[in-house]
Amino acid sequence: MNIILLGPPGAGKGTQAQHLVESRGMIQLSTGDMLRAARDSGTEMGRIVADVMARGDLVTDEIVIGLIRERLQGERAGGFIFDGFPRTLAQADALEALLAEQGETLDSVIELRVDDETLVRRIVGRAEEARAAGQPVRADDNEEAVRHRLMEYYKKTAPLIGYYHARGKLTSIDGLGTIDEVRAAIAAVLDR
Ligand code: ADP
Repeated sequence: MNIILLGPPGAGKGTQAQHLVESRGMIQLSTGDMLRAARDSGTEMGRIVADVMARGDLVTDEIVIGLIRERLQGERAGGFIFDGFPRTLAQADALEALLAEQGETLDSVIELRVDDETLVRRIVGRAEEARAAGQPVRADDNEEAVRHRLMEYYKKTAPLIGYYHARGKLTSIDGLGTIDEVRAAIAAVLDR
C-alpha cells in the first residue's frame, strides 16, 4: 500500500509516518529529511538548497523529484509513505508517472487538517523547547519562516487537495486530536 500524508508544516505528518513505519513496516520517504541530509553532508545540491529551505521557500521540483526517483527503485517492503511530497501539482504528476513505471499505484491520500495559529504555536513552541534544552533548532522554525512556509503551502500545495479528491483518493481527517486519536483515524482509513 502506498500513501501520501498531506498537510501544512507542523500538522503531524512525520510523527504519524514514524508510527506507520513501526506498526506496518512501511517505508517513510520524507523529502524534508532527504534535503536536510543533503545540506548537512555538504554536497553541491545541499549547498544549493540550504538558503531556500532556511527562508521557507520550496526547493525546485527537479531536485525533489530526482530524490524520490532514486528511492523508489530500492526496497519497498510494506509500501511507501510520502511525507512532504508531492508539494506541487508538477510533483504530483511526476509521482504518478514514477509509480506507474514501477508497476505501483497510489492507494490513499490522507490530509491532516490543522488551523494556522495551532501550527505556528506548535512549531515555534517546539523550537523554543529545543533551544532551552540546548538541542539544535531548524533554521526555518522561527515565526517569520513558518508563516512563509504556510503561505507556500496554501499557494502551491493545497491545490493537491482538489487534485486527489477528483481522483477519489482523498480523505481529510482532523489533525487537532491527540497523537493517538489521529493515529486511530489514519488506521481506520487504511483498514477500510
Ligand atoms: P515542514 O513540513 O515542517 O515544513 P519539511 O521537513 O517537510 O517541513 O520540509 C522542509 C523544507 O524542505 C521545506 O520548507 C522546503 O524548503 C523543502 N522541501 C521539502 N519537501 C519539498 C518538496 N516536496 N518540494 C519542494 N521543497 C521541499
